[in-house]
Amino acid sequence: MGQLIQYCKDGTVKIRQSDVATFSAGSEEVHKAYGVTWVTWGHHPRPNPESIEQYAQKVRNHQKAGVHYSGGTGLVTEFRGMIDSDPNFMDSVARDIHGNPRTCPWLTKYLGFDPYVFCHHSSAFKEYVFRNVELAIRAGVDAIHLDDPLLVGPSCYCDRCLGEYKNHLKKNHPREFRKLLGKEGVSDIHELTKEMLLRNGCLKSGLDWRGPLGDAILEPDHFTHSVRAVAVAGKTYSPVELPDTNGVFRFRERFTDKCFFEGYPIVYLFRKLESGIKREIELSYGANGSTRWIVNGNIVQDHVLGRDNAVTFMSPGHNKVKIPLKEGMNLVGVRFVSGQAMDSFFLGELPSGRGLRGAGPWRALGPIRNPMRVEPYDRFMLDSTRDFLQAVFQHARKLAGKSIPTIANAAFSYLGNRWACESVEYASVEIQTDAHTNQCSTSAAFEYKINEALGKRICAMGTGANHNHVRVEKRHNLVRTWIAESYAMGHLFLCPIRLWCYCPDGIVPGYEGPVELFAPVYQFIRKNRKYFDGYESVAKVGILYDYFNPVTDFYHANVYKELCHELCRANIPFRLVVAGKNDEKAARDCESLDAVILPETCRVPDCVRKALESKKIIRWKTIGNVMSKLSSMIHVDAASRIMALPRVKSSGAANKAVIHLLNREYDPVTESMAVKENFAIRMDTSLVNRMNVKSVKLLSPETQDVKLNWSLEKNTISIDIPTLDYWGLVVME
Ligand SMILES: [Zn+2]
Repeated sequence: MGQLIQYCKDGTVKIRQSDVATFSAGSEEVHKAYGVTWVTWGHHPRPNPESIEQYAQKVRNHQKAGVHYSGGTGLVTEFRGMIDSDPNFMDSVARDIHGNPRTCPWLTKYLGFDPYVFCHHSSAFKEYVFRNVELAIRAGVDAIHLDDPLLVGPSCYCDRCLGEYKNHLKKNHPREFRKLLGKEGVSDIHELTKEMLLRNGCLKSGLDWRGPLGDAILEPDHFTHSVRAVAVAGKTYSPVELPDTNGVFRFRERFTDKCFFEGYPIVYLFRKLESGIKREIELSYGANGSTRWIVNGNIVQDHVLGRDNAVTFMSPGHNKVKIPLKEGMNLVGVRFVSGQAMDSFFLGELPSGRGLRGAGPWRALGPIRNPMRVEPYDRFMLDSTRDFLQAVFQHARKLAGKSIPTIANAAFSYLGNRWACESVEYASVEIQTDAHTNQCSTSAAFEYKINEALGKRICAMGTGANHNHVRVEKRHNLVRTWIAESYAMGHLFLCPIRLWCYCPDGIVPGYEGPVELFAPVYQFIRKNRKYFDGYESVAKVGILYDYFNPVTDFYHANVYKELCHELCRANIPFRLVVAGKNDEKAARDCESLDAVILPETCRVPDCVRKALESKKIIRWKTIGNVMSKLSSMIHVDAASRIMALPRVKSSGAANKAVIHLLNREYDPVTESMAVKENFAIRMDTSLVNRMNVKSVKLLSPETQDVKLNWSLEKNTISIDIPTLDYWGLVVME
């Protein structure tokens, strides 16, 4: 296959669905084996002539070999470069509410300095970022990539930010501002102090996961599923595991996690919960008593709350259990009543009576029934971050003399990213593949779907912890299912070339997959690119999602993730309909749907309401209740755990459709797929626009194309599938 670099007529480039992208550059040989067309995380040269020339040479070499090269800069992670190039770098460091420097939690010291995060209102830092982008553009890169663009997650409380904020309040909220001055007995904007703003509720942040007052879990602890630090009233504490627990019991990072429909804070327990064995667990609230739960494998039984309230399944077959916390109480310990003494786990070193709070920092968001509120300070920080990023892109375009694609390592399921990175076209985000479960997971489906709804394609990879897990356990066949899932959902998954690994114990090499195992996957995509490019996903069911919803995003996305999981499992083609920002588009997105799921907390904009008039409306109270009102649309006979994802050609020759078949049954013992044989799929042809089917074939990465037997009865098409390894592409023409 020719791999000449493809530019559009106006000289610009796009990332197409059939593209094959890498994280960093690999060797020419490996690139050839995979059919690589993009290097996405190309960074920038250091500002010395030698480095600049080397970098430019690298870009040219890739382009000559038919590979697009994206350059750019980090934002949160730029402390090394900033420390090297600016002797007064401390002046630009972002500050928390106490004036302490903000640091990047997953990075370590450099030259004895903490990994500082910088403030986007600092002109020195702005200049530094502009310079990095300029260095990349001058070398002729094809796209601009920003790593972790949401600088301060999002809040900084330095003097610069507060000064800008006061001006903003004065200009945009003059009446309230005058009232504030009067209340504090000051006449001049300069006399208005941080303390005055704070005590008048002007500095609240609902999006800042560290919490403005420090009364929050310090670190999202996304990586290890154990709590490493807890801050109460600005002081940091570490939970202590009893020595003889051997680290077996680990709490998930979010003690404050809420299942907002049920309204119960939840604690997660991992491992040691063999399915089929009943255990009794006691959650201790210190002087406030305790509650006991019977845990039977994955199911927490409670006769008072009932199953819907007490537990929500994550993925079948995993020892992952959620137990509701007593509302408003502080959890101080957990004990396995029916186990031995060594099964106990206490949270130590916390001030007596405090423990871990059930309702935590997200209380700042206000009443649970009003999740759409965004605090004024968040709004100000996000607006100014967005303006800064747009200025960076404008600068890049001006220098390049043409439109240039923009990519950001940003999860658009998080409101902060949706807001600040509005104009970014592609995401290069780490998605959660739940590698530690050694099973195929659908945790990523929500991220894929929300990006699809926002019109952004993801160049996905797993998290650092996911990569490290498959690196250590050599679970390459599991990784192939991640790639298949991403492409089947209309996105890309980066080649396993030095994919970054996170290990809490220290620096480890990146994940490098065996080329002979992965080359067929990517070559399959390149060879069949006409069945990838220009296709869009079919959806008959929509889930309404509020653009401004901060409660259910990012760490709080679990309820949406679970619903997406259930819909995938039942083979019900669905999409997210994002309302609240571009409602005309949301209304258009509803057009082809049969049914729309409305979360109880979602405000339905007028023009969307109109589009819903002819649709079946399913009110989302619990996931069980939603699923009871829907049934499978693609039936897979005589074989289980197969996901079928139909896609149709969006324009041009309309009489074309494909169905991605994903085998989700991975055997962790043999590190291979349970191959499915001789089964049939049946579906109504309305899923493929009632196309006139003339031929059906099956393509897959490691076998020859097979003509398939099929039959049509009324409007139901039935297709026989002889064999399915991890991925098959049924082509209907
Ligand atoms: Zn600042």
